[in-house]
Amino acid sequence: MSSRTSKKKASSSVSIVGMGYVGLCTAATFASRGITTRGVDVDQERIRQISQGRAPIHEPRLEGMLKVAVKRKLLKVSTETSDIADSTTTFLTVGTPSRTDGSIDLTFVRLATEQIAKTLAQKEDYHLVVVKSTVVPGTTNGIVRPILEAYSHKKAGQEIGLAANPEFLKEGTAIDDALNPDKIIIGANDEKSRDHLTRLYKDFYRRKLPPILVMVPEAAELVKYASNAFLATKISFINTIASVCQRTPGVDVNQIAEAIGHDPRIGPLFLKAGPGYGGSCFHKDLQAIIHYAKEKGFDAVLLRATEETNENQAEQVVELAQKILGTLGQKRIAILGLSFKKDTDDIREAASIRVINKLHEKGAEIVAYDPMAVRNTKKSLPYRIDFAQDSRSALEGADCAVIMTEWDEFKRLREKDFKALMRNANIVDARRIFQPSDFEHSNYQGIGIGT
Ligand code: NAD
Repeated sequence: MSSRTSKKKASSSVSIVGMGYVGLCTAATFASRGITTRGVDVDQERIRQISQGRAPIHEPRLEGMLKVAVKRKLLKVSTETSDIADSTTTFLTVGTPSRTDGSIDLTFVRLATEQIAKTLAQKEDYHLVVVKSTVVPGTTNGIVRPILEAYSHKKAGQEIGLAANPEFLKEGTAIDDALNPDKIIIGANDEKSRDHLTRLYKDFYRRKLPPILVMVPEAAELVKYASNAFLATKISFINTIASVCQRTPGVDVNQIAEAIGHDPRIGPLFLKAGPGYGGSCFHKDLQAIIHYAKEKGFDAVLLRATEETNENQAEQVVELAQKILGTLGQKRIAILGLSFKKDTDDIREAASIRVINKLHEKGAEIVAYDPMAVRNTKKSLPYRIDFAQDSRSALEGADCAVIMTEWDEFKRLREKDFKALMRNANIVDARRIFQPSDFEHSNYQGIGIGT
């Protein structure tokens, strides 16, 4: 192959192993820029759906991009890892779940790396392997690298490349985030790997290239944990202040957050009090880094407190309902919102589930509604609750409404709707989507409002 051809290929063909949330969004965005993309997953049903241009997850813009990519044959997917051979760069985007003790489970990373390496053993050209999954420091060099070298019979840094390149996209805005990241982190041991990946991103982003920060793989891996730990801690911090506000008449946490947010050292973002963080990453990643630190002989007290505060936040929501209703036994409670945030059907680690569990323990009768997450909730709850077709039917005859997700359609509800539909207009606004002044003729309680 001429150097001209190989240079062109380096910037125009990638493969993704693990077509879950991150892999699928990454694949869709690469293909949207005309880059030939191969997607591999062990899940046959997932691959079947993607090959028809259908998204197995709900994410704004994703399905439209997949349809175009598949139709234009820019995205081809299969269950065969050997298909990565056609590309020059493979992104590893398999899941890194928690073990029962909270430490990181690298089973998928090990297996996928072995499969990638076996393919690379047959390949003559240089190929870069990029670890995009969130992994604890030392994984790329200490686990991926030896497996890659053993099964490919090639030396990393010479015949094959290796880099860590954590992903920062957020569910609900994943496509926008992938197209407009605030930074790119490249962890590489050698210049060739670093330059190969940098060139790929330069070709991809062109004039919109974000800052590229280059470091050793261990540092790149830790950037991702530091980022998630900081964001989770910011949430637990404001929820702590919210709990203090709730016990201080006349004080509203939103005013406190706005005021402190003016200080540039603090900043206004991620200071919204609520029912506690959820989603597939914060809890999992905090647990992983807490365990990693412990293994290294350090007790990450702050991060343990962040997690404990988050776990306890569900109790704060339930206490607000109790404040209005007294005992919760036999009371019909309408849960509005199940997904961990709006615009997704993801209920992993969602605060709604923690609140539902507590209400269920206290004998409440629960009816829940979510525009997208009902199916996933039905699959995950070990007991039966009622599900409503829409927010209005959820409210019908309820003793209390608890707003758990900030869906836009809930924001359109008015006091008169709650009054007309519910047995008593008792509202617990765990997301603070309403103004207390809009509910002057109801019993309205919100997270962080001192009454
Ligand atoms: P996911 O569980 O949605 O997807 C992982 C996919 O990998 C699954 O479809 C699974 O079938 C597939 N897989 C497992 N083993 C495989 C193998 N050997 N070959 C091919 N495919 C295989 O996970 P996700 O949410 O996309 O997360 C992936 C990684 O990215 C994790 O480390 C996660 O922490 C990180 N991350 C996730 C997000 C997010 O918002 N979801 C954001 C940033 C980083």
